[in-house]
Amino acid sequence: MVLDNLGSSLRGTMDKLRGKSRLDEEDVQEIVKEIQRSLLQADVEVDLVMDLSSNIEERALNEEPPGGTSARDHILKIVYEEMVEVVGDSTEIPLEPQTIMLAGLQGSGKTTTAAKMAWWFSTKGLRPAVIQTDTFRPGAYEQAKQMCENAEVQFYGDPDAEDPVQIARDGMEATEDADIRIVDTAGRHALEADLIEEIEEIERAVAPDRNLLVLDAAIGQGAKAQAREFDSAVGVDGVAITKLDGTAKGGGALTAVNETDSSIAFLGTGETVQDIERFEPNGFISRLLGMGDLKQLSERVERAMEETGEDDDWEPEDMLQGSFTLKDMQRQMDAMNKMGPLDQVMDMIPGMGGGLMDQLPDDAMDVTQDRMRNFEVIMDSMTDEELEDPRSIGASQVQRIARGSGTEEETVQELLQQHKMMDQTLSQFQGMGDGDMQRMMKKMQG
Ligand code: GDP
Repeated sequence: MVLDNLGSSLRGTMDKLRGKSRLDEEDVQEIVKEIQRSLLQADVEVDLVMDLSSNIEERALNEEPPGGTSARDHILKIVYEEMVEVVGDSTEIPLEPQTIMLAGLQGSGKTTTAAKMAWWFSTKGLRPAVIQTDTFRPGAYEQAKQMCENAEVQFYGDPDAEDPVQIARDGMEATEDADIRIVDTAGRHALEADLIEEIEEIERAVAPDRNLLVLDAAIGQGAKAQAREFDSAVGVDGVAITKLDGTAKGGGALTAVNETDSSIAFLGTGETVQDIERFEPNGFISRLLGMGDLKQLSERVERAMEETGEDDDWEPEDMLQGSFTLKDMQRQMDAMNKMGPLDQVMDMIPGMGGGLMDQLPDDAMDVTQDRMRNFEVIMDSMTDEELEDPRSIGASQVQRIARGSGTEEETVQELLQQHKMMDQTLSQFQGMGDGDMQRMMKKMQG
């Protein structure tokens, strides 16, 4: 997302500092330039980029690194702290009863985010409800209702009512039993006086504990004005960035967070109710700086495990050890699909980020949902021995398996090919420490 570029370019520059104990002006300038370039590319607003980089520069040159600290660690710490300053360090939305109101322009993803957040809170053992007050956008009611059904959370809306403020009031009463009430509001194409007025009235009616501004990650420079307007109307306590699956940018959202002095609360990464992550500044920046974000990884793994009902203690790192049989593939494909694309998962394992996965053949890790379903059927037709030792599968077995699973021999071959590629890829990682990984990356980058 946003700053993935920063991650890899910065890591390259940082690596040049290895072995140095002091930063000279040239080092600092090179790093600052790298940061500026990445942030501007990600559409972060110029003033913010300049502020951030001059803070980093000033501190790097004037602060004395604590004894024994390398130049690299010193600047990493400064970059880290300055970035935390921007994205906010108090993002903990407490897991306790509360009302959250969502605001944003039409199409930013409010309705989707409302249902996603409700789902997310429900996984934390709370009882959420979504109140849909958008009477402006045709279809908002149906969409919200459907998504809440998918999320299995309580929903309140009234397709026949016309006054959003009244719906909000009625909704608050109707959802009294809920712990978390998420109030979705109408958007418009642009900031208009009647939109702001409506939101102010709804806010008075529901008295939310916090207001989140929902922003499309692709918003870019428009973010600043929007953030300012919403902030002065109802106050913005946090930002939910949506559609991060569709853009490499997202800098506008950083600008908005900075402008409202709030923090990033949630990230939307897809269209289904489960495509949401709580934003964790530490994890985010650690990942950005190439330190690996195990916390987020474990949250995803945990979720995937809950869903697949697997209670054995499979760890993602296990893929990197021992032999990788078809059985492993079968067991893990499902979990992996729930966690998101494997390259994203890999990015979260320390030492695995930094574009390493970009160096692999595109389809090496491409196990889409459809293929997976086919593969599952095929694997069901294999014997245990074949699953444990795919090399024992010859032409006649392929024929038998295809017949047994009602698939084409070609698909069976594809599965075997896929397994082989994954096996080869994973065996390259086996037994590697961070240092080896760095060396390998260098080698791959030629
Ligand atoms: P609203 O007008 O602000 O309520 O926006 P919606 O919730 O209706 O979202 C607008 C469109 O964006 C819909 O088609 C959603 O499916 C889509 N959308 C919302 N969030 C995401 C996301 O995180 N990823 C992707 N790919 N699409 C999203």
